[in-house]
Amino acid sequence: MSKLGTEQNPVRAAIVGSGPSGFYATEALFRSEPVVLVDMFERLPSPFGLVRSGVAPDHPKLKQPIQVYQRIADTPQFRFFGNVTVGRDISVEQLLACYHVVVFTCGAETDRKLGIAGEDLAGSHTATEFVGWYNGHPDYRDRVFDLSHENAVVIGQGNVAVDVCRILSKTVDELKHTDIAQHALEALAESKIRNVYMIGRRGPAQAKFTHTELRELGELADCDPVVDPNELELNPASRAELEDRSNRVQIKSYEVLKAFASRPPPTRHRRCYIQFLKSPIELKGEGRLQRLVLMRNRLEGEPSHQVAGETGETEELACGVLFRSIGYRGVPIAGVPFDERRGVFPNKDGRIVEGERILPGLYAAGWIKRGPTGIIGTNREDSVATVNSLLADLPSFEATVKPGADGLMAILRERGVRVVSYTDWQQIDAAEVKRGAAVDKPREKFTSVQEMLAVLTAS
Ligand code: NAP
Repeated sequence: MSKLGTEQNPVRAAIVGSGPSGFYATEALFRSEPVVLVDMFERLPSPFGLVRSGVAPDHPKLKQPIQVYQRIADTPQFRFFGNVTVGRDISVEQLLACYHVVVFTCGAETDRKLGIAGEDLAGSHTATEFVGWYNGHPDYRDRVFDLSHENAVVIGQGNVAVDVCRILSKTVDELKHTDIAQHALEALAESKIRNVYMIGRRGPAQAKFTHTELRELGELADCDPVVDPNELELNPASRAELEDRSNRVQIKSYEVLKAFASRPPPTRHRRCYIQFLKSPIELKGEGRLQRLVLMRNRLEGEPSHQVAGETGETEELACGVLFRSIGYRGVPIAGVPFDERRGVFPNKDGRIVEGERILPGLYAAGWIKRGPTGIIGTNREDSVATVNSLLADLPSFEATVKPGADGLMAILRERGVRVVSYTDWQQIDAAEVKRGAAVDKPREKFTSVQEMLAVLTAS
């Protein structure tokens, strides 16, 4: 039998998930010494994960990595299998029978819960739903957000919260030439929201947003950012945090907040209130969300380890719609161990483990490996690290020849799955761009799997 990783017996790798970490893992495999063939599986017909359906439509520059992913996809050793759900259409066991290695790069598809009364009232949503909706993700296109109220609340102060606040605060003119889904543009055009509250449980020195994203809230056409200068007063531990030059982003964000606080009184149609040291403790309303009960917090603990402690003082805020933007969470796949507490696949340096036991051939990279942190580029080094673990393990693998996806086609055919190849995706992509050109947008996304597949049957 030929040595594994040669032209005669290439390493067969399945990548599950087509977001940044999947493409960076592919790139790292192609750059490695052994010969590797990659088959990438994606449950939607469209690739690119959160770069397509998470990055805000008004941030086109952040979508530029797609050009890199396209180049990787053009490599002859790469194949794309879209519209295939691992764990449903094919099992992990079936994948392991056809591949030497399976790398899970399936991200964090759901949200953390607040765990408070009223969380599931009508009008209370996850940021994921809203982001997926305005980005035309098929899972969320039918969601309805009641924007007929004056007050909207966003819980959390990460960059996703800033995205949600900005989309709620922008005018239609600021959005209409982006790739925002048409249904979202139409609903936002009718929005009656005037006050958007972004509420953080800790202080201004601990907020997770980055200064560049925060600054944009001060550059909107018809919305003023509002910060109460009293809320920017720092306790000694927070002062110490901001004196530490390694907290560059927090220092810069604090400067932006101070600039917001010293602005003249707001005059524009909308206001985005950025508030600190408050935690939601209950959502109230008759049949639907009407009021939010907030606990005032105080910071407790050492610098860089401060947590929000309750003061016992509460306040109520009228609000008709609320978005919980408190971080993403991975979802399990049958046949792979899952860490319920952290919402990730348990792993050691990217090797998936069950207890202390390493499961041969199974790897993870990206958010499903480390949790939902970092920017798109963070996933490159993370995927490289996982691929390094995988390459170090290769000598211990059996050199059996594996068929790759050719061994799965009969199963997929039997299940009636219309597999979408990369060439198929390029057709869908071209059709979206064409639709977009007609309305002066970079693309008009298809927002259902059926619509995407219809492009292929029509051609
Ligand atoms: P994140 O940065 O982790 O922020 C989560 C926020 O939720 C924090 O303010 C956190 O507060 C708060 N939170 C968590 N549990 C809470 C609770 N029980 N009650 C109240 N607040 C709670 O997460 P994210 O905004 O979802 O972003 C995920 C990643 O994607 C981040 O790395 C982000 O930078 C990145 N991203 C980047 C961009 C961009 O570059 N433009 C855009 C979007 C997302 P604590 O700090 O107190 O935990």
